[in-house]
Amino acid sequence: MTEAVPAKLLWEQHCCLPLQPTADITELARYRTTRPVYLSVNVGYSPQNKTAATEIAADFRRKAIADGRFRLVRTVADIEEAARDGAFALAFDLEDSAPIEGELDNAAHFYDLGVRSMLPTYNRANSAGCGCLDTIDTGLTAYGKALVQEMNRIGMLVDGSHCSIRTGLDLADATAQPMIYSHSNFAALWKHPRNITDDQARACAETGGVIGVNGVGIFLGANAPEQRGERLRAMADHLEYGVELVGIEHVGIGSDYSFDHVDFNLELQTNPQAFSDAYTAYGPLQWVPPEDTVTLDSVLAERGWSPADIDAVCGGNFARVARQVWR
Ligand SMILES: [Zn+2]
Repeated sequence: MTEAVPAKLLWEQHCCLPLQPTADITELARYRTTRPVYLSVNVGYSPQNKTAATEIAADFRRKAIADGRFRLVRTVADIEEAARDGAFALAFDLEDSAPIEGELDNAAHFYDLGVRSMLPTYNRANSAGCGCLDTIDTGLTAYGKALVQEMNRIGMLVDGSHCSIRTGLDLADATAQPMIYSHSNFAALWKHPRNITDDQARACAETGGVIGVNGVGIFLGANAPEQRGERLRAMADHLEYGVELVGIEHVGIGSDYSFDHVDFNLELQTNPQAFSDAYTAYGPLQWVPPEDTVTLDSVLAERGWSPADIDAVCGGNFARVARQVWR
């Protein structure tokens, strides 16, 4: 089975289209590279209920099929097939458990729509656990633990990004499957509440999981508009730090590129309760764009990484975990 996954995959574990009917899915084709590409696209977070997230996922599915360049995938074997056909492999993720609406059965509903990972708590406490911007951190709740068990049962990846430190550590304890941090950088390199501690990273790796490094300026410590090159190099720095800390098998890419960056910067103003000055103190957010993310393999090669290590971090590691966890 291991040979079934293309060795030279680019696996993007998290990116964001606008969460509205005007979303232009053709933008995802900006991830064009010589590597076969898998993209996990966000379909909802704390403001979305079940109906809203369902409509977003259905809209993206329709548009992906109509476009023809994208392939909706359910399994890693589907990704391999998409790679053979030169199509972008596409699945979804949820950034918050609000769309589950407290009903565990809804996790399977979203799994059927193509959602392959979910983080329980986006920045602020909810019924599942605490967020990374909370000042009081009581960790994962009993409901949050039940949600983890249900996700394990149906094959949805448990994601610790945006959660509080204790919630992240509790997720590692609660899950019977490898967990991920879909898009989290290392607090040891840049102190920010959205970045994870070494303990969180180690606990994730101990489950067999993977930490996806993101390309968000404020989480990299390089958010000035003119720092485009610094942001890409900082991503490589975080990948190198992660490899040093937890090993080559446990680091990947989740750039968090926001195709809706104008909307997102507006969202900081219209939905301020989900954020804090940890988000707003640096001016408009900047991201490493897809055109730069697809060059990370060359950046790592220039730093002396072996082809096998580059392939592991650019896609092999997340593919391994997906093969273990997805049903
Ligand atoms: Zn995020």
